[in-house]
Amino acid sequence: MTEAAGPATDPLPIAQALIRCRSVTPADDGALGVVEDALRPLGFACHRLRFGEVENLFARRGTGAPHFCYAGHTDVVPPGDKGWTDDPFAAAVRDGALHGRGACDMKGGIAAFLAGLADFIEARPDHTGSVSLLITGDEEGLAVDGTVRVLEWMAANGHTPDMALVGEPTSRARLGDIVKIGRRGTVNMWITVPGTQGHVAYPHRTDNPIPRLGRILTALGALHLDDGTGAFDASNLEFTAVGTPTKATNIVPGAATAQLNIRFNDLHRGEELVELVRRTVAQIAPAARVEARISGEAFLTPPGPLHELVTQAIREETGITPALSTSGGTSDGRFLIKLCPVIDLGLPNATMHKLDEAAAIEDLHKLTAIYARIIRSALG
Ligand SMILES: [Zn+2]
Repeated sequence: MTEAAGPATDPLPIAQALIRCRSVTPADDGALGVVEDALRPLGFACHRLRFGEVENLFARRGTGAPHFCYAGHTDVVPPGDKGWTDDPFAAAVRDGALHGRGACDMKGGIAAFLAGLADFIEARPDHTGSVSLLITGDEEGLAVDGTVRVLEWMAANGHTPDMALVGEPTSRARLGDIVKIGRRGTVNMWITVPGTQGHVAYPHRTDNPIPRLGRILTALGALHLDDGTGAFDASNLEFTAVGTPTKATNIVPGAATAQLNIRFNDLHRGEELVELVRRTVAQIAPAARVEARISGEAFLTPPGPLHELVTQAIREETGITPALSTSGGTSDGRFLIKLCPVIDLGLPNATMHKLDEAAAIEDLHKLTAIYARIIRSALG
């Protein structure tokens, strides 16, 4: 792609170019090239970082402090069922909105940041500090060879940021009404209670695991984890599946299983909760097996300069004061928080991952202005 002369300060053509790349995770299909083509003319040093099957991009302008980093992803979830009004990769503009997979999650957000950046650099070519972008092609998939690996590379190469903004679609009813200042942690667990299989008519030769699993579910369901905090909802444990290996009506099954998920706030660590569940299970069924996978710890950026800067920019561009929230699913902010304060701010998310995903053109322009203002205040 060849850029027209002058910086690309209109987010729409950038968002369209991004949507036209079929970057269904972990494919790239040229999406990072579109980002790179927008950044090079602005004087960014671009590093393509390939880990496993995944393409990532780290780009930075300037070397000084403060170092402001914008994080996002160019991969998208599959378009899903037939039933889209437009081709999900055509980037159709209709009824004042841009349509296509990734329009709000989060190619539209990246385009707005690139356009805001062009605005800022045009006005302040010799700004202080430095600004960088960490764009991964592996957020919607396993998230193993994406942000985590790029952050390791950044730390090893002297690119640790002082603050980060993640461009995930956080807004609900109106652009800027919600920013995310943290997320609850999440852990999945699988419980297997062993028994002895046999004929239901000869129960003395069997050991039925189902009543034991029932008592375990009751005990786990009765756990009171906490009442929430000023920043977080209460932690909650939800069973997501229960079962036995057989559906036959005349067999006592040899095992009974349950699966659960805990969304937890920053009063807990994932490991502690796994231990709590193990202890509770062992009291009822010492032979039971509990497996666990912690997908992310809870994190929070406490009130401070980054909150103020983002809140102020939204207020000045839209007139509304955003709610500072920790609700919703996790984001790559869970990795960035290990290095610096992080906030998520992006487009309205009503259509993310859905058929007919779309972003209002007006919102793309407004978000461009908000991002430009944030960069301006962050770099001083
Ligand atoms: Zn996303």
